[in-house]
Amino acid sequence: MSTIETQYQQVVNRIHGACDASGRKRGDVRLLAVSKTKPAEMVEACYHMGQRSFGENYLQDALDKITALSHLSDIEWHFIGPLQSNKTRPVANHFQWLETLDREKIAVRLNEQRPEGLPPLNVLIQVNISDEPQKAGIATNDVATFAQQLQSLPKLKVRGLMCIPEDTPNEEHLRHQFERMQQLLLELQQIVPEADTLSMGMSGDLELAIACGSTQVRIGTDIFGARN
Ligand SMILES: *Cc1c(COP(=O)(O)O)cnc(C)c1O
Repeated sequence: MSTIETQYQQVVNRIHGACDASGRKRGDVRLLAVSKTKPAEMVEACYHMGQRSFGENYLQDALDKITALSHLSDIEWHFIGPLQSNKTRPVANHFQWLETLDREKIAVRLNEQRPEGLPPLNVLIQVNISDEPQKAGIATNDVATFAQQLQSLPKLKVRGLMCIPEDTPNEEHLRHQFERMQQLLLELQQIVPEADTLSMGMSGDLELAIACGSTQVRIGTDIFGARN
C-alpha cells in the first residue's frame, strides 16, 4: 500500500477505536480529510480508499482541485478556512459545506449567491469556544441569536457547530471546551432541530473529541503528511 493508503487506514482505525471506547456507533463519526495545500492526485488516491469529504482552507488552491476532480461526481468539498466577504461567491458556487460561518454579512451574501439549481449550502457556526480575543468564531453566548438570524436564509442549511479549541496540552481544559460544545449543540437543536453535526477533533485530540460527542473529526497531516 502507498503511504497515503496506510496512513488513511490508520486514521480510520483510530476513529473506530475511539468510537468503540466511548460506546458510540462507528457510523456516527465522520472523517473530514483536510487536503489543503496537497495536490489533486493525493485527494484522488484518498477518494479511491473510500473517502468522500475533503476540507480546504485556501480558495484558489481548492478551486483548482475541484476543477481537476470534477469527474468524481459524489465528492464533497468543505470550506474550513477564514472567509472574507468579497470571496463568498466561489464558496456558494463550488462547495457543499462551509464550516467557519461566524458573521451575518457573510451568511447573507452566501444566501444570495447560492445558485438556484443547487441544494442549500450546509453551514456550521464556528464557535470561539476558548474565548480567545484574536480568534474567529461566535462567542458562546451569541450562538442562539446568530442561529435565529440564519433561519431567514433559505439557501443556507444550518447543520451544527464547529470549533478549533485552545492549543493546549492541558487535557482538562480541552475536555471542558469539547463538553461545552456538546451542550451548545443541544441548545442549537432547540432552534434548529435538524442540526446534527459537531465538527471537532483533529490529529492530536480526536479520541477526546469523540468521547465528548464529536460527529466529525478533521484530519490533515496524519493522512497526507506534513505541509511545508
Ligand atoms: C488544517 C486544519 C485541520 C487539520 O489539521 P492537521 O493538523 O493537518 O491535521 C483541521 N481543521 C482546520 C480548521 C484546519 O485549518
